[in-house]
Amino acid sequence: MTIAFDNSFAALPDRFYTRQAPVPVRAPKLVAWNDDLAAILRISKDDLPDAAAVFAGNAVPEGAEPLAQLYAGHQFGNWNPQLGDGRAILLGEVVGSDGLRRDIQLKGSGRTPYSRGGDGRAWLGPVLREYVVSEAMHALGVPTTRALAAVETGEVVLRERPLPGAVLTRVAASHLRVGTFQIFAARGQIADLQRLTDYAIARHYPEASGPMGLLRAICAAQARLVAQWMSLGFIHGVMNTDNCAISGETIDYGPCAFMDAYHPDTVYSSIDQFGRYAYSNQPEIVVWNLAQLATALLRQLDDPETGVDEATEIVHDVPGLLRAEWLRRFRAKIGLTTERDGDEGLINDLLTRMAANQSDFTNTFRALAGPAARDQFTDPAAFDTWATDWRARLRHEADPDATMRAANPAFIPRNHRIEQMIAAAVAGDYAPFHRLNRVLAQPYDDQPDARDLTHPPFPDEVVQATFCGT
Ligand code: AMP
Ligand code: MG
Repeated sequence: MTIAFDNSFAALPDRFYTRQAPVPVRAPKLVAWNDDLAAILRISKDDLPDAAAVFAGNAVPEGAEPLAQLYAGHQFGNWNPQLGDGRAILLGEVVGSDGLRRDIQLKGSGRTPYSRGGDGRAWLGPVLREYVVSEAMHALGVPTTRALAAVETGEVVLRERPLPGAVLTRVAASHLRVGTFQIFAARGQIADLQRLTDYAIARHYPEASGPMGLLRAICAAQARLVAQWMSLGFIHGVMNTDNCAISGETIDYGPCAFMDAYHPDTVYSSIDQFGRYAYSNQPEIVVWNLAQLATALLRQLDDPETGVDEATEIVHDVPGLLRAEWLRRFRAKIGLTTERDGDEGLINDLLTRMAANQSDFTNTFRALAGPAARDQFTDPAAFDTWATDWRARLRHEADPDATMRAANPAFIPRNHRIEQMIAAAVAGDYAPFHRLNRVLAQPYDDQPDARDLTHPPFPDEVVQATFCGT
């Protein structure tokens, strides 16, 4: 077997999915391959007679048990009783050289019973966006799904205009979502809900006991995750309950983006009219999503009423967990490893001044370990007055520069660079794609040759809206 599949989800009852092969494409061409991840998965491209065919879905490899998973979800707060993989196929699972079990999924692999009105396809732009951003997130140290391969299909997909089609191979700790629990709870399929709970515990949180133990573990993982997003200026963009992974990984890179100039109200997604998923709302939205998970999990208790108090307490703990993790990360960002009263005020004072001075989020924090941070402020005096207090506080720290350089990346996948990379790839030039991947693999290193990738966009480079037209 060229891929050592070891499938557990496919052994669950068929009410959890529909068995479905990917739909072949006309002319598959492998345009990206992730050697590092392939090595962890013990997949050698040389052992695959035709990697393009496999990762386009044209050739189902031995041991794969292709299926489309069933789930539901709240999208922008509205309940959708049935979603499911409308354009993705789970090939199966592999236990990597690190002992971790991961899903291998094709995204953009054709219609399934859950496609509703969609074509089951993806176009090249979002496939390359997800490839670059998810790999950058991994290099930044954020739990995330990853990208193993990207294939051009040789077919056209129709979005706002005709565009080149592509398939992404996504690798994830699993694809279980809050919405996977919601669908069985909503349908009253309690035995299936229990089965799913046991499966999720065994797969992700073996130390957790029972539905409330699982809830507690997921709440902790999600609190850590969102605090980490906040510390990097990352905006997910579609924090629907079907895009909230049980594993605590970032999943579903649609209209996501890293902020350039800091402002708490920043929104990128063109479909998020009311700013539900704005940067500063993310900590509240994750709590909302986890409350939906709690509601679903409670359905399986013999007497759900007795569980309500415990579930409520667990969900109510999330803001505190998130705030503590936020504080730990932002302390490090300004060079603090010790804890003192007033640290949170110091951090918030900086953020307020950054918002008022159009300071670039990434470059301001990165510059704190040098002389030029004040240049990031339209009124440098706004930095100087803050820095007086800050320098006094730093006297209690041994090596703040080292702390800051490890907490503040030099490189993030800036939205305008992603758009430029996509435009080049559509024109057949993959050099910007490969360069972004190479530089973003070492985001905490100064890379003098890549200085241009640290610049925020010039006015004519600003991406006006990140479309969900994925
Ligand atoms: P997403 O916005 O990517 O999280 O997708 C939400 C739901 O829409 C999921 O059930 C997807 O499978 C489905 N979906 C998104 N795009 C397509 C498409 N082009 N064809 C079929 N289903 C899709
Ligand atoms: Mg999704």
